[in-house]
Amino acid sequence: MDIVLLGPPGAGKGTQAKRLEDKYGLVQLSTGDMLRAAVASGSELGGKVRAIMDAGELVPDDLVIQLISERIARPDARKGFILDGFPRTTKQAEALDKMLADKGLKLDHVIEMKVDDAQLVDRISGRFTCATCGAGYHDRNHKPKVEGVCDRCGSHQFVRRPDDNAETVKKRLAAYHSQTAPILPYYRAKGLLQSVDGMAGINDVTAALSRILDGGAARPAPSPAGAVVRPAKRAAKPAARASARTKSKPARAKAKPVRKPAPKARPKRAKKRPIKRRSKTKV
Ligand code: AMP
Repeated sequence: MDIVLLGPPGAGKGTQAKRLEDKYGLVQLSTGDMLRAAVASGSELGGKVRAIMDAGELVPDDLVIQLISERIARPDARKGFILDGFPRTTKQAEALDKMLADKGLKLDHVIEMKVDDAQLVDRISGRFTCATCGAGYHDRNHKPKVEGVCDRCGSHQFVRRPDDNAETVKKRLAAYHSQTAPILPYYRAKGLLQSVDGMAGINDVTAALSRILDGGAARPAPSPAGAVVRPAKRAAKPAARASARTKSKPARAKAKPVRKPAPKARPKRAKKRPIKRRSKTKV
């Protein structure tokens, strides 16, 4: 199963990709992470892209296409992947189609995570991560339980992305709207595009994404983002799918927490009494 997650910076693509990676046995391919690793390693590529990234602009198509093409060719990508942060331009989307077609592959799902721009600046400019294990936190919404100590691994070191400041975030959002949003119609025309409400809670977003990946209907959410076009092309694809699809049952089970509202409390009590009497007689 090969998936693209689309959405503006801060929509939660990375967070959700990590969850789907675990749940479906896929590999997350984040061009942002790859480029940051190149910058951190001091490689030639890193040197070329550092200033562009710090300015909140998009790295040239050719560089990113080359990066992702090499990454997709690695063996672990064969179990299926979740693209996070790629494609970001129509040229990248077309290049992706071509590189997949060359391998006899096609995308299974393209999912847009819809979010409200106004909240994104706040979301992004407050976020930071544990330098040791990568756990994510936020200055206001999600602080570590003990200040300065990572909940997950106990580390005392945290990092903030240099491009996670209000000014750069606005530029990244502008880049999304002018260069990335135009690829939505490209995928819609192919019958591949679906969307989820990225403003919902993390678990709800994961559930909505899972419903799509499991082949169920997207949540009929009150938000305008709810259910969208069902992809018509989920049929013919190579091997990796079977293993991913085996996990399709939980979504329905999870969709049943509707059981909770149990207004039948009184009748239940009434029924329980005779049962207790019976058990007493046995004892
Ligand atoms: P992200 O972590 O996805 O928010 O990406 C961080 C930065 O990396 C972006 O603001 C761009 O400068 C660069 N970048 C990541 N992915 C791409 C891409 N597909 N095309 C161009 N630039 C990218």
